[in-house]
Amino acid sequence: MKTIYLDNNATTRVAPEVVDEMLPYFSEYYGNPSSMHSFGGQIEKKVRDAREKLARLLNCDPSEIVFTSCGTESDNTAIRGTLESHTQKKHIITTRVEHPAVLNLSRHLNKNGYQVTELSVDKKGQLELDELEDTINDATAIVSIMYANNETGVIFPIEEIGTIVKSKGIVFHCDAVQAVGKIPLDMSKSTIDLLSLSGHKFHAPKGIGALYVRKGTKFTPFMVGGHQEKGRRAGTENVPYIIGLGKAAELALEHLKDENTLVKALRDRLENALLTKCPDSCVNGDRAHRLPNTTSISFEYVEGEAILLLLSEKGIAASSGSACTSGSLEPSHVLRAMGVPFTRVHGSVRLSLSRYTTEGEINYTIEQLPPIVKRLRDISPFGKSTS
Ligand code: PLP
Repeated sequence: MKTIYLDNNATTRVAPEVVDEMLPYFSEYYGNPSSMHSFGGQIEKKVRDAREKLARLLNCDPSEIVFTSCGTESDNTAIRGTLESHTQKKHIITTRVEHPAVLNLSRHLNKNGYQVTELSVDKKGQLELDELEDTINDATAIVSIMYANNETGVIFPIEEIGTIVKSKGIVFHCDAVQAVGKIPLDMSKSTIDLLSLSGHKFHAPKGIGALYVRKGTKFTPFMVGGHQEKGRRAGTENVPYIIGLGKAAELALEHLKDENTLVKALRDRLENALLTKCPDSCVNGDRAHRLPNTTSISFEYVEGEAILLLLSEKGIAASSGSACTSGSLEPSHVLRAMGVPFTRVHGSVRLSLSRYTTEGEINYTIEQLPPIVKRLRDISPFGKSTS
């Protein structure tokens, strides 16, 4: 059975062009970019090209890109690296809806002597900016706020937030792992000092990421060792993956306009059809400010996990929230932070599309999902039959 993959916020298919670009750099051109000989030198040039391609996607200077192993490493580097450079400041501000890469890190730091403020969100998953202003104090070292939420797709007003943060002279980190490649980002006009991204969310392989570091931003490297990445991230460069990330960035820039047109149109059709065909269902999060590829829908009186299992039998891959927490069966911390009632949290399903999602796949999902919800409601002892 062919898989209809609607879990692109968990990870994406590696673009065939990316694979082609990477392959020669495993067994043919396998030199070390730091070597003095020309075999290594040609690799160094390819790494430089990849850095330039990624810089074009972010509209920044290539020297502001530091390659890392993943989004989690970028987040850790940004937060720990800032704290280590501002040792007299012990306060971190973040939000209750961050990915565990930021949330669990800040909770870990909290146990180790740092004060952490987790900003709350409203019913739509949006931040109260007044709360942010009120919590910044002289001890605040860093504000770390995500660009777009991985579960609901809700986009925060990042530049408004950044204007507040920068007016107080504080370092502003943004986890943009879900935003890069889906919406336009322009670092030349941004207030962000440090921005995390991850290749596997936009058709590069898993295990490669980057941290954008605005010129002049002080941070202490997380990985200490050799002089790679101008001393900002030690360790021999993952050359094939860096080349893959560069190619994925080039393709993302080419296809960016499709995200807000083709992908968004498919998402909206899917969402509207499901809301119409399934009574007692609703979208979680601010529908007007969302990633174009994501919908989080709650179906009352059913378990999201049960829907996912039956969808999987029909060849449809979706998720009940973040891939990192779905194994734990813990109800989504994002939906709980939004005050979504318990029954709706448990009946939530996240569907996330990509530029590879076809109209036929969406039609099939619209056909298959509503009868699954109805069937589950009909057999549920607590449920409300919709027949
Ligand atoms: N931040 C966000 C918002 C994410 O969605 C993810 C992955 O799901 C990460 C960070 C972690 O990225 P990685 O899987 O590359 O470590």
